[in-house]
Amino acid sequence: MPGIEKMHSVTRLHAGSATDVGLVRTVNQDQRLVAPPLYAIADGMGGHAAGEVAASVAVRALEEAFSAAGSPTAQALADAARAANQAVWEASVADHKLRGMGTTLVAMALVAKDSTEELAAINIGDSRLYRLRGDDLEQLTADHSLVAEMVAEGQILEEEAEFHPHRNVLTRALGVDPDVEVDLVTETIEPGDRFVLCSDGLYREVSDEQIAAMLRRLADPADAARELVTEAKLRGGNDNITVIVLNVPPVAESASSSTEEKAAPEATEEAATGTEAAPNKRSRRWWRRRAQASRSRIITVRVVAFFVVLLIVLGAGAAAIAWYGRSSYFVGLRGNELTIFQGRPGGVLWFQPTVKQRSGVTTDQVEAQHLAALRAGQTESSMQAARQYISRLRNEYLQATLGTPST
Ligand code: MG
Repeated sequence: MPGIEKMHSVTRLHAGSATDVGLVRTVNQDQRLVAPPLYAIADGMGGHAAGEVAASVAVRALEEAFSAAGSPTAQALADAARAANQAVWEASVADHKLRGMGTTLVAMALVAKDSTEELAAINIGDSRLYRLRGDDLEQLTADHSLVAEMVAEGQILEEEAEFHPHRNVLTRALGVDPDVEVDLVTETIEPGDRFVLCSDGLYREVSDEQIAAMLRRLADPADAARELVTEAKLRGGNDNITVIVLNVPPVAESASSSTEEKAAPEATEEAATGTEAAPNKRSRRWWRRRAQASRSRIITVRVVAFFVVLLIVLGAGAAAIAWYGRSSYFVGLRGNELTIFQGRPGGVLWFQPTVKQRSGVTTDQVEAQHLAALRAGQTESSMQAARQYISRLRNEYLQATLGTPST
């Protein structure tokens, strides 16, 4: 049902891939599949042409079964891997020349998860899926090889595995039995995540650190895939080398960017053209939301900056007002007692005057003509001046009533 299919696979990955026979082998038995939202690598094994057949039957059957499922889900991917196993197995029993053939298969797809999407990956054998998130390169798949199991069980060190005589022995492969155990992993995806699918021809020559460094240096997936293959050849090229690099677009990317998939040049005979013919409506909506989200993030930064500046200006203003509001004194009334206040009569904005000193002199101890000024607040430049003012009123009153000035 195409309608169901349209519901999912909303993130468009930028894909680039490259493959090379290497410097030792005469035939390239690796196969890659770039069929958004599905990406896979199969590393075939078997005499004569059997390895190539196994790998190509596997990726074709995987793609067919996965797209036939209608709705891309993690379960559909695992089922498709089992269908691929069945197809290779059937082909090998049908033709005695192909007897015993098998292949590795590593595949990843963006699949539906509730209302969102996630990464699903399957693995059988020793091809790998890596994820570079930020600065960390992580192998998301586990190798089904004798040395990997020996390392896991602590029998040998990881460094020894590289040179172990049985390093090519697989403990699990696709197509050698009617049934196969499929490893399925699911992961969240984040903007800027990068994924690398590869056959062992890459990682046996190029260390994880070198893979990570190459990815950091080369943002373009086609460039990165091509350079990784070249690097593996420079370091020995003892096996076929196949690499698919996938970029999850960064969140700030424009919604209208439609030339994401860039074919790997010459190194690749069938460059990755992993573009969905027409992005569905939901995809466009999703992109628009992403673009809006990044725009609003920029706006948010500006708004925050504006408020910071505003707060500084307001703070300076408030300090000036506070200074003005608090820098003088006045004599006013508190009940009927003459009191020295700090501040401005009536206050300035939220800076209310505070009591600095009570005088003990009451309104009935001053001349009546001063009461209006006292009620309004008689401003003085300092505490000293305010004290002198009260003293003056008191003396005036004493003089008037007793006829003798106070000392
Ligand atoms: Mg190989």
